[in-house]
Amino acid sequence: MSSGRKRDRWDSSSDEEEGGATAVGGLSGETKKTSTGPGRPPQPSTENAAVPHLQSALPAVRKHNPLLQGCRSVYSSYERVARLDEGTYGIVWKAKDTSSGEIVALKQIKFDETLTKEGFPIAALREISVLLDLSHECIVTVREMVVGDNANQVFMVMEFMQMDLKDAIERSGHSPFPQSELKNMMYQILSAITHCHAKWYLHRDMKTSNILVHKSGKIALCDFGLARKYQTPLKAMTQMVITLWYRPPELLYGESVYGPAVDIWSVGCIFGELLKKKALMDGQGELDQINKIIALVGAPTETNWPDFQSLPNAKMFRWRSKGPPTLPATFPVNTFTGGQTYLDPNGFDLLSKLLTLDPKQRISGEDALKHPYFRSTEGVERQVPRFIFD
Ligand code: ADP
Ligand code: MG
Repeated sequence: MSSGRKRDRWDSSSDEEEGGATAVGGLSGETKKTSTGPGRPPQPSTENAAVPHLQSALPAVRKHNPLLQGCRSVYSSYERVARLDEGTYGIVWKAKDTSSGEIVALKQIKFDETLTKEGFPIAALREISVLLDLSHECIVTVREMVVGDNANQVFMVMEFMQMDLKDAIERSGHSPFPQSELKNMMYQILSAITHCHAKWYLHRDMKTSNILVHKSGKIALCDFGLARKYQTPLKAMTQMVITLWYRPPELLYGESVYGPAVDIWSVGCIFGELLKKKALMDGQGELDQINKIIALVGAPTETNWPDFQSLPNAKMFRWRSKGPPTLPATFPVNTFTGGQTYLDPNGFDLLSKLLTLDPKQRISGEDALKHPYFRSTEGVERQVPRFIFD
């Protein structure tokens, strides 16, 4: 194949729109990554065996050792099948491994001017180093990094997943997910984020479009472009993280000293979205988001959030809602365990504990996994979700 043809196959510049990318302010240089470099092989996971029976359904991981052989060329290794998505930090392709025939996903790193002020795009660097440091069945697997002809053609090769959870919800029609499947999905999502937290990472952009689904029913967390290490005691970080609809109240009120609880709030929003099949709180701005949160779970008080008054924006953002929380009416509980489509009392309890205003009182990922909602003896048993693919 001529190099002209190859270029045509992988050079994305003709597909790229100008100025589509926006960097999230205040992120540059705030993280000192414990980078493992692209050569580190994934470690076998021993923690949180969320879906052990699904392991064999997945493609084999990276076989090439870039430390010995250098990164492979995208032209000789992969054939482009389709363009899947374009986000802020990269373009995602469906591609075929030319030697094994395996289908993979390639995330092409965007070398946009606004993203490359410090050389290699910082978000991409973060994503690569974090993903190589994490190894869990519910976190997307990176097989290798491959390069094109130019220094600005770098691709992250990942296991291919059929779609993201946002699309899966949209395609699944109007009837609610059976509780058995919902439980399985929530368990996998919580397993993934608990693993991140145990390895001292915050994801900071948990949402349904950053959760991938495989036809086997496996779920995998992706998009670690905003992830960073945290430590205890917690240190100040930027508040310019987490997509508005999934952003916790403490960040909206200006808290900069935060930890794993921020991701847990987002998981609560995802739980609500899986139940309602639409975004739980779709605020049109920060104040509107605060109003939606308070209408759903109630206003901060001395008892439910003692530290609230000391938050930077506590006096600035006043809320409209004066009534009782709408959470119970939004998610009516059904105690009849045979009724698969309704949230049982344990499910409602978990949802309320995830969506707790005070980050200090919010349930941790570890405790959420031990919640009675997931115990098969106390309700509907977990079952692998059957997503609709065409
Ligand atoms: P961005 O930082 O641009 O949001 P993401 O990693 O979230 O990048 O990828 C954008 C989209 O591409 C995802 O929402 C998902 O729809 C799709 N995608 C990402 N990774 C994969 C994958 N491994 N398999 C299939 N689709 C993927
Ligand atoms: Mg994304």
